[in-house]
Amino acid sequence: MTIIRYTPIKEIPKIRETLRATFKAGVTRPLEWRKHQLYQLARLAQNEADAICDALNKDLSKPRLEVLRTEVGNIVERATKSAQKLDVWAAPEHPDVPDWQKGWKPTILKAPRGTVLIMSPWNYPFILTFQPLIGAIAAGCCAAIKPSEVSPHLSQLISDLLPKYLDPSAYQIVNGAVPETTRLLELQWDHIFYTGNGRVARILAVAAAKHLTPLALELGGKCPVLVDSTYDMDLAAKRILWGKCNNAGQICVAPDYIIVPRSKQGEFVEGLKKAYKTFFPDSALGASHYGSIVNDSHFNRLSSLLERTKGEKVTDIIEGRKDAARKRIEPTVVKNVQDGDPLLEEELFGPILPIIPVDSLDEAFAFINARPHPLVLYAFTEDPNIKQRRALCLPFTVCFVSCKHFIVIDETQSGGLVFNDTFQQLTVDELPFAGVGESGYGYQVMKYTYDTYTQLRSSVDIPKEAERSLQLRYPPHGPEAVKA
Ligand code: NAD
Repeated sequence: MTIIRYTPIKEIPKIRETLRATFKAGVTRPLEWRKHQLYQLARLAQNEADAICDALNKDLSKPRLEVLRTEVGNIVERATKSAQKLDVWAAPEHPDVPDWQKGWKPTILKAPRGTVLIMSPWNYPFILTFQPLIGAIAAGCCAAIKPSEVSPHLSQLISDLLPKYLDPSAYQIVNGAVPETTRLLELQWDHIFYTGNGRVARILAVAAAKHLTPLALELGGKCPVLVDSTYDMDLAAKRILWGKCNNAGQICVAPDYIIVPRSKQGEFVEGLKKAYKTFFPDSALGASHYGSIVNDSHFNRLSSLLERTKGEKVTDIIEGRKDAARKRIEPTVVKNVQDGDPLLEEELFGPILPIIPVDSLDEAFAFINARPHPLVLYAFTEDPNIKQRRALCLPFTVCFVSCKHFIVIDETQSGGLVFNDTFQQLTVDELPFAGVGESGYGYQVMKYTYDTYTQLRSSVDIPKEAERSLQLRYPPHGPEAVKA
């Protein structure tokens, strides 16, 4: 049975033409029209929740509660809230200017960027497809949407549902794999919003450069977790393991590796074991509230990583059992990981938790700072001196040696920074979400997504009466003008 129907490649330019014609005709301009589409998107998520849960269960064995909590619910809420806030976001702004320019009516207009392309990944395929779309609709753009072929049930479902809820002349889904995406990227778009890996992002950036298309790149990487020796190890372990178990670790903000004081490694691992027993009394392998690895290729990648890790350096692997038939891997803790180990090469994107013991905080900071800027940095500490440099603190190098102040905020770079929990940042709709450096660029969520799709169009309207004050600019310029 065919799970997903790919869009014929020859149809792709026609889809773009339809969207462009709709945009040019001004269909998406009225705010009331945009609000209606946003409410319709919220209705889609709400009315079709069962079908969405079913599709995500087929694609990723995603537990129903996880889908409702992290994908469907967020879209209902964010689409609704965006509709409610649209009048304020879209209102023209009047900057404060010197008195002599006030009559020119300087205004910042909020203009839609035009006809845009959204490309989403397989790991949270519902929210990561529709979250950018919410911003595009709010801003008055038309959009082609390319979901991932790696989550085929969900991609087919949303292409069946979208025309029932949204105006198909303004929003259309293109299904397919590399050939279809390549065709999409040959065309000119007014903006491209891509969520996925850095390898494809580079292909995309090259294609976009040809048309000077602006981009938002929401990428991944290895999100470090730093645990300070004074923090409650059981609590840190519980919060970290919970974060790692969401979607079986297949999420861009998953804790990738944990740095703990060497003297606390044993206590921290005991904390992980306790948390594991609480979350999965009968093992995660068979638990209905634990997900699978998306496909054989990712399952084999993770399995071979673990095989390569089973060298002399690894002293302990907790759980780590696998079920190849169901593509399941239990949360797997690897102790005593060191720089250069295979687990530290690339983003893990699976339920493996390497622990790196260090002898000092400066070793921990050096380890983090030697790597590309992560999407999120997690730090478990309640020590204000570790969180941020005190105003009167000595310069960093002196500080290390003399007063042992270590400064997460000022001495590291990351897309986001979370103290004392994992994932909770994603529930705060008012915070921008973005990477930095290798983890991407371009902000999203609510107003920030609206801004991404909005051109700030500066406008002045110079009245005839201004002519007197403008006289001096006209040639020929006599000695008076030059003197002035
Ligand atoms: P994916 O493989 O589904 O790819 C995403 C899109 O790229 C798909 O539409 C796919 O068709 C297209 N694509 C793949 N190969 C291509 C090629 N050669 N040419 C053109 N297009 C191509 O998803 P993925 O990249 O495996 O997703 C996982 C990655 O996404 C991880 O690195 C993760 O960290 C990152 N991610 C980031 C965020 C964020 O918000 N920052 C969120 C989720 C996932």
